[in-house]
Amino acid sequence: MPRIYLDYNATTPLAPEVRERLLSLMGGFTGNPSSLHREGREGRSLLNEARAKVASLLHADPAEVIFTSGGTESINLALKGVFYGSPRSGKKNMVTTSVEHSSVHQALAFLAGREGVRVTSLPVDHDGRVSLEEYEKSLPETLMVSVTYANNETGVIFPIREMASLAKSRGVLFHLDAVQGAGRLPLNVKELGIDLLSFSGHKIYGPTGTGVLYCRRGVSLAPLIQGGSQEREKRGGTENIFGIAGLATAFELVSAEREKENERLKKMRQRIETTISQIPGSFVNSRGEARLANTLNFSFEGISNQSLLASLDLEGFAISGGSACASGSMEPSHVLIAMGQPREMAKGAVRVSLGRPTTEKEVDQFLSVLPGVVQRLREAR
Ligand code: PLP
Repeated sequence: MPRIYLDYNATTPLAPEVRERLLSLMGGFTGNPSSLHREGREGRSLLNEARAKVASLLHADPAEVIFTSGGTESINLALKGVFYGSPRSGKKNMVTTSVEHSSVHQALAFLAGREGVRVTSLPVDHDGRVSLEEYEKSLPETLMVSVTYANNETGVIFPIREMASLAKSRGVLFHLDAVQGAGRLPLNVKELGIDLLSFSGHKIYGPTGTGVLYCRRGVSLAPLIQGGSQEREKRGGTENIFGIAGLATAFELVSAEREKENERLKKMRQRIETTISQIPGSFVNSRGEARLANTLNFSFEGISNQSLLASLDLEGFAISGGSACASGSMEPSHVLIAMGQPREMAKGAVRVSLGRPTTEKEVDQFLSVLPGVVQRLREAR
């Protein structure tokens, strides 16, 4: 039986259009963009073209786009780069939420341990919402806020415009982790009113090992990697030209398809949600909230996610329990724990995330198998 992949929040396959672009580039030779000869100039022109494309999709200036190796690097560069880039600000508070990706939590923990930065990690309610009142209270004396656009486990979308505008009015810099938002939510940095934004190639049908940090002109950013004047001295090292070209193609593709694709995926997600809610003892997390159209997080009373995932894997379905980084461990998701779920319930949570290749037929197959798997696991208890 062919495998059915339903874990697009963990990673995505290369889009055929991106594969074509990569194959055509890799068939030839591209010089080092720093070289002055013709081959080098060709490399530079590929790089410039990709940067211009990404910038225009973000409504930014090309000089504000830094290419990195992925979401984790962009986030580290944003948080540590702003801290080390503004030594005279005197501000030592950083604000985030308790449901961020581990790259945000760990970069901030590093700054707390090494530099004495005070980190405020705002709580969320049982639906995954942050209180804007609490958020506003945390802003005085703060250097920077870092929040996720949409949660990778529940899909819950934070009210970014409001949060960014409150930060701006207090002179606080705002970094948006848009790793899950890219290609799924509007990313006009001007309209959002943000200062920095991170996203990753492998979540948008682009190559793994590629990412973007948007850093508004005027924000002082120290590099994490020294060694050359690449990326306007914000990230040393010869550029990953092919990867960058592939990332730009992927970003263009998902941005153009975004609204139509969201509509399509939402309908399929709704079908899955309806079937799940008809199974006794089922629970859909953050059901009433504004969520990514492709994401569904749920659990069944009395069933651990380990056994559910293993049984579904045997049936041919690739889905995951919360974030990919946390899966494999028996620890329940920190996101659901932060939402106040009892550990036992959080240990049952499973995430289905749909993507560009997902078809109605695949959803039919999933729905024809899921209720039986749940019943068998319950009978085996
Ligand atoms: N931020 C969020 C919200 C994510 O979901 C992920 C990856 O799952 C990351 C950051 C890290 O991105 P990358 O895998 O490109 O390092």
